[in-house]
Amino acid sequence: MSARVLSGKPLAGLLQQEVQELVRSLELDGVRPVVAVVMATADESTRWYVRSIGKAAERAGVGCRVIDLGHDATEPALAGVLRELSAEPSVNGIILQTPLPAGVRTDNLVGLISPEKDIDGANPLSLGRLAVGQPAFAPATARSVVDILEHYRIPLAGKGVVVVGRSAVVGKPLSLLLLARDAAVTVCHSRSGPLERYTKDADVVVVAAGRAGLLAGSHVSSRTVVVDVGTNVLPDGSLVGDVDAATVTGTAAALTPVPGGVGSVTTALLLLHTVEAARLQALALPMPAGAVDGQVLETAG
Ligand code: NAP
Repeated sequence: MSARVLSGKPLAGLLQQEVQELVRSLELDGVRPVVAVVMATADESTRWYVRSIGKAAERAGVGCRVIDLGHDATEPALAGVLRELSAEPSVNGIILQTPLPAGVRTDNLVGLISPEKDIDGANPLSLGRLAVGQPAFAPATARSVVDILEHYRIPLAGKGVVVVGRSAVVGKPLSLLLLARDAAVTVCHSRSGPLERYTKDADVVVVAAGRAGLLAGSHVSSRTVVVDVGTNVLPDGSLVGDVDAATVTGTAAALTPVPGGVGSVTTALLLLHTVEAARLQALALPMPAGAVDGQVLETAG
């Protein structure tokens, strides 16, 4: 039997529609949401990704300002731009695109993004708020995983979910979002030992390690739902995830594809977060009270 394919595209389409509708309703109040992307790299795949955000924003009616400081940008220059954008009323959301030039410390910069504009959950304050159940924008990739699972009605409450990867941008915030949905979460990393020890009995396995072929069919069972967050470019230029799709497809219950899975939802969520940030800023409201973690947009009235 072959695993069910959990494509991200249907959900991405629904989110794009939702963004367009929200943009139209904000327009009636004279508000045009704007996202700013700060970048400083010559890396062609990153530049391609930023262009794709710009195109998606244009289609949705969201303004997109790309501030490209070049591959030799300094940390003070990047810090200055982030401070300006955080203070600039016409900008609603800010993305600090990695990679940054050698020697520039991302962790020195992300704290300069105002939490109200931190639509990709990069500021440690956003992660802290998620950790204690206060409203914040979750990193779009982490939220994509949960939204895809919910879109396909994969139950999470009371289920054993293994997250492979503990980065501040994917693994850690994702484990917080899953905990908030009452999953029993296990987080694995490069020192946690053989993966199958954790993954074999899991209901859901999310792999976000950046290692092609890390999760194989022998690591999971026939009831496991597998979400592949990884993006790895092979020497021949093709894009693959962290899952050995050929063997996992033969064993698992379901699997998200790469490309066409998590990544296809992420951009739509960045725009949705931008629109929500614009709405809250226009109303001079703080983050919506009572909303929890990534549910912030669903519960905002
Ligand atoms: P990262 O910062 O490099 O973190 C990788 C994590 O994986 C670390 O926690 C690391 O453990 C763990 N790991 C590495 N090798 C492992 C192994 N053999 N067994 C178990 N755990 C292992 O990467 P990231 O930024 O979180 O990104 C992870 C992947 O997601 C990358 O492929 C990235 O390209 C992809 N990504 C995709 C999207 C999207 O929208 N689709 C967005 C963002 C990222 P230690 O902590 O012990 O080092």
